[in-house]
Amino acid sequence: MNSLLKEMRNVSYVCNLKQRIALLPKELQIEIAEYNVDHRIALSRVHQEMKEMKEYNDSLDYCDNDMCESSISKWYCIESKIMNDTYYFCDDYCASYGSWSIKYDMRKSRRNVNITN
Ligand SMILES: [Zn+2]
Repeated sequence: MNSLLKEMRNVSYVCNLKQRIALLPKELQIEIAEYNVDHRIALSRVHQEMKEMKEYNDSLDYCDNDMCESSISKWYCIESKIMNDTYYFCDDYCASYGSWSIKYDMRKSRRNVNITN
């Protein structure tokens, strides 16, 4: 392979692409000849679908109501900010009860800090 690279480097830079391809082993020349440019268009659609699927999968989470924990998407849920943190709930009931529960736990933990200090 090193001799092939040396040979390709020795070829003048003004040499055209066809001449450079002709220096490659026959198997690689066949691979290049079989390449279909139209696949790029189809593949870009596949990549777009894969990107959207990944973004949707990244949006999946569990309802932050600790009594529910249903699987939800952050795109289709109720978002609530509590003490600079964002919480996600599956419906209005969970948003109400879950928010109260989270705030209750925060108040309780603050009380414990005050007692121990
Ligand atoms: Zn829920």
